[in-house]
Amino acid sequence: MTDFLVPLSRPSIGQDDIAAVLAVLNTPVLSMGPTVHRFERAVAEYVGTAEAIAVNSGTSGLHVCLAAEGIGPDDEVITTPFSFVASANCALYQGARPVFADIDPLTLNLDPGRVEAAVTRRTRAIVSVDVFGQPGPTEALRSIAARHGLVLVEDACEAIGAERNGRRVGTGVRSAVFAFYPNKAITTGEGGVIVTDDRELAAVMRSLANQGRDDAATWMNHVRLGFNYRLDEMSAALGVSQMARLNRILDQRARVAGWYDRRLRQVEGIRLPYIAPETTRMSWFVYVIQLNARVDRAALMTQLEADGIPARPYFVPIHLQPLYRERFGHGPGEFPITERIARSTLALPFFTEMTEDQVDLVCDRLIDRLNASWMRSRSVSRSRSQAASSVALTAVGEAS
Ligand SMILES: *Cc1c(COP(=O)(O)O)cnc(C)c1O
Repeated sequence: MTDFLVPLSRPSIGQDDIAAVLAVLNTPVLSMGPTVHRFERAVAEYVGTAEAIAVNSGTSGLHVCLAAEGIGPDDEVITTPFSFVASANCALYQGARPVFADIDPLTLNLDPGRVEAAVTRRTRAIVSVDVFGQPGPTEALRSIAARHGLVLVEDACEAIGAERNGRRVGTGVRSAVFAFYPNKAITTGEGGVIVTDDRELAAVMRSLANQGRDDAATWMNHVRLGFNYRLDEMSAALGVSQMARLNRILDQRARVAGWYDRRLRQVEGIRLPYIAPETTRMSWFVYVIQLNARVDRAALMTQLEADGIPARPYFVPIHLQPLYRERFGHGPGEFPITERIARSTLALPFFTEMTEDQVDLVCDRLIDRLNASWMRSRSVSRSRSQAASSVALTAVGEAS
């Protein structure tokens, strides 16, 4: 394995974070204590929802959202194939069928027209994803949901703090989920939070995440089939501490993205992340460029790795994952926009404390490798056209 000069991602952990976790460890209460509640209040207040329910991952949060709506076998849930697999797996956990709709080629979020075209008699919910921290088209999806009597759930796992037309992600939908795995903007190790304005729904969600206990969380009274999706107190303490500097973290990440933009704007063969005019605040999750179709991405990744620079394709379309091919017979060609974009994406090293020098280092290597590949492809095409013209000349000679 190569030692990388820059990591692909790295959580931002300060002395305050460490002290917060240690403070919990100095008490006997490591689960179901006051810190989870403080974390939930911090997220609800920041996002602007009535309720927040902490869970042990973003994936569990998405599952709880669909379970709380009573989604089950024979139901269909429309989502995007251009996401992390959890956006569709949450439907499978409930025995429902994920139905995919292709994306907008610029924002990489769901295309509302294609969502509406995918609605059938069996459709019960839409799971919209804020891809790479850019808010999805909530207004349009909300009116589709209202027209067809569907539930709109927002997979905002990559987008805490993002804003669309001045409105924070997580509001204006039935429920939304944030995730705090260590590569996200802020982290709790593993963890997630569901937000909603519906207090009754929130009570069902709390119960589902806590073994189906009744609303009073009576220890031995299980009123429904629930799960153990609880967040522990140490993770919640890290969450409280990270929430306290969320805005600063998001600003730092935006600054890193700005350095990349400036260095890469004029570079031939790559397309920078697109920010829609409706996106009044990005929550930068990753920095993903798109490569010109003539660039050999696999070769470029290998070369960058040899230079000590990690880079990854982002995402592999969900419908092309082996599980989805086998279970639903999906294959290439079904969602051409998703597939074309997924072939071209490259996530570059990106994290809160990344310095301008580190961005420069990544860009220098990337630009060098791209230039070398252009030179090679030009010399190949030049020698091909020379070969072609000499063949043509020979043919002319033979004819005469
Ligand atoms: C990170 C993420 C999730 C949830 O991830 P967990 O690892 O379960 O916390 C879900 N959807 C998307 C789009 C994500 O990026």
